[in-house]
Amino acid sequence: NETLFPYPLNYNQVDWSLHYPKRFGKDPLKLCLNTLEYPITYDDGVNAENSRSIVDFLDIGCGFGGLCFALSENYPDKYTFGMEIRGKVVNYVGEKIRALRNEGQANNVSVIRTNAMRHLPQYFRKNSLEKIFICFPDPHFKKKNYRRRIVNPGLLSEYAYLLKQNGRIYCITDVEELHNWHVLHLEKHKMFKRIQDVEQDSAAKLIWNSTEEGKKVERNKGSKFIIVCEKV
Ligand code: SAM
Repeated sequence: NETLFPYPLNYNQVDWSLHYPKRFGKDPLKLCLNTLEYPITYDDGVNAENSRSIVDFLDIGCGFGGLCFALSENYPDKYTFGMEIRGKVVNYVGEKIRALRNEGQANNVSVIRTNAMRHLPQYFRKNSLEKIFICFPDPHFKKKNYRRRIVNPGLLSEYAYLLKQNGRIYCITDVEELHNWHVLHLEKHKMFKRIQDVEQDSAAKLIWNSTEEGKKVERNKGSKFIIVCEKV
C-alpha cells in the first residue's frame, strides 16, 4: 500500500550507514529511502555504532530538497537529513543524491520518506540535533486543521527535546497569517528564545532562497517571513 511505510520502533533500529554509507565505508550508490522503489526495513539487528546519532541538520517537509543540497554544500562537515512524506518526491531527491555521489559529492546528505509529525523521536535522540528547518510548510488555513500544522505547541516541545542546547529552529513562510502563528507559539514556548539578529545567521540566509518553494515566491515577487529561535 502506497500510503503505508515502515518506521523504526525506536532510534536503536535506525541504521545511519544506509543513509551516509561513505562515512561507514559502504557503497555510496545504494539507496534506501523508505519508498516502494527503495525500501528500508527496521529491526533490532543494527549494531550500536551504526545507530549512534549522526544527523546535525534536519529539514522537515524537505520537498524537492533544495535546502538539503545547499546545506550539504555549505556545511561539508555537517550531516543533513531531509524528511518528506510524498514517495515520488523522496525518490526524486534520492536520485539526485545518487547522481551527485557519482561525482563524489553529497555524501553528507540523505532523505527519507516518513511522516515527520509522527515519527521524529523514533529517529533522533534527545539533545542531538543542531538545527531544524521548516520551510514553507502547508498553511492549513481552516481552524479545524490547525492541528495539522507542522508548528504547533505539542510538536514544538518535541523539537526542543531533540535539539541540542543552543540549537536553532528556523521557520519561513510566504503566508503572513501562518508566520504570525509561528511567532505566537514560538515566543510563548518556554524552551525557545527568539533570535533578533537573523542577518548574522548564515543558515537563515540559505533558507531564504534555496528551497524550491522559496524560489517560486521570489519569482512571483511575494513576501517572505522568517523566525529563528534558539533552544534555552
Ligand atoms: N520545504 C520545501 C520547500 O520549501 O520547497 C517544501 C515545501 S511544501 C509547500 C511542504 C512539504 O511538506 C511538501 O513537500 C509535503 O509533502 C511535506 N509534508 C507535509 N506534511 C508532512 C509530514 N507530516 N511529514 C513530512 N513531510 C510533510
